[in-house]
Amino acid sequence: MTDVIAAPPQPRIPVGSGDDASFPVRRIHCVGRNFADHAREMGASAPDSKAARGNPVFFCKPADALVIDGVVPYPRGTAELHHEIELVVALGVDAPPGVLDPADAGALVFGYGVGLDLTRRDLQAAAKAKGLPWDTGKAFDASAPVSRLVPAGECGDISTRSLTLHVNGEVRQHGKLVDLIWDVPDILHELSKLYALRAGDLVFMGTPAGVGPLQPGDRFHASLDGVVEFDGHVVDGGIDAI
Ligand code: MN
Repeated sequence: MTDVIAAPPQPRIPVGSGDDASFPVRRIHCVGRNFADHAREMGASAPDSKAARGNPVFFCKPADALVIDGVVPYPRGTAELHHEIELVVALGVDAPPGVLDPADAGALVFGYGVGLDLTRRDLQAAAKAKGLPWDTGKAFDASAPVSRLVPAGECGDISTRSLTLHVNGEVRQHGKLVDLIWDVPDILHELSKLYALRAGDLVFMGTPAGVGPLQPGDRFHASLDGVVEFDGHVVDGGIDAI
């Protein structure tokens, strides 16, 4: 068969420090309310024990929402763009059929990065109030800036790491991954109950407290401390250039 239109570009993320390796992206899964302090700041209840945590909140972003150069166009349709710094997990192996055992989850992970789950908070709040889907608040163009990926073998024990986001030189968010309500094996186990996990999938793991607005001209510095850092900035009116 012959394509009747030009094939859309395959989204890719650079790997390591050089220019010769990249990770092609299939899907972007995201986890909501995975730090108790952030759940509380959003007005949701937070479990105080593993047994009480219920089911995780999942949503998706399109793969072409990735931003790898750090230049984020202020999106249309909102007056309240928010930052959410998150651990990003990149899967390098297809999950086996059936529900994934948490003990087997680590073998699926290619590597890690740090990203921003950018959110049109006003649209998300309006959707929440009406019990409607979050797509317009979460799954928009350029809503997924992500750093380079670091292979898992170079990251040490990821559960001991922390996330830090500076905006214009001031700390806005800081959280320890040991405080995740569902850790990486837990989340891959839960996702496997709902979706076929494949090489090329990304998972945004949820954000700690301190989410807040970004404006055109703001500069951000996101860090998965000791693993990878990512700098970027917000530009005005650039969305139509995508
Ligand atoms: Mn998030």
